[in-house]
Amino acid sequence: MCNLKDKVDQNILWNVGKGNINFWYDNWSPIVPLYKMIEDDLIQQNIMIKEIYNDGQWNWSYFQVQPPDKIKLLVSQLHLILDDDTDDTSHWICSNSGRCSISTAWNLLRRKRQFSQFDSRIWHMDIPFKKSFLTRRAVHDKLSTDDKISMFGINLPSICSSCIGPTLSNRSETVEHLFCDDQYA
Ligand SMILES: [Zn+2]
Repeated sequence: MCNLKDKVDQNILWNVGKGNINFWYDNWSPIVPLYKMIEDDLIQQNIMIKEIYNDGQWNWSYFQVQPPDKIKLLVSQLHLILDDDTDDTSHWICSNSGRCSISTAWNLLRRKRQFSQFDSRIWHMDIPFKKSFLTRRAVHDKLSTDDKISMFGINLPSICSSCIGPTLSNRSETVEHLFCDDQYA
């Protein structure tokens, strides 16, 4: 869950207004986010920008544990303008509008698999679900044919029901036979 939050936070950019933005964790600068640049024990989590930035100056003495010089140097080069009358605003970079939506968040967080031509052919709105499901099970050899049942120690005589007869082959029931060799395949 923390990884998901981290991933979401990285896609929220903040425009500084009043400065109620977390110095370390929020994505408010081009150097984003700052906590990734230092060791965890150097971070004081609840420092807000408005607490350490006044009149164009960064008040480093506010920190109980001093940030590394590289952080100070990088941050000092940024020119912020705090405005008590302007709210801090967020921008969701995963959408053109900048507004977060469930669909854009889902697309960001979900695991995407490689596009499968096979899946796109069997899972189609024109194909009944049970046929798609049957095809998938057959391809992955997951149907409960006699040969599969025998693997659980249930050994019964196996003959394909459409192949029974004195002039027929009396083949046993397997996925390969049912879908490839059988007379009705
Ligand atoms: Zn058969």
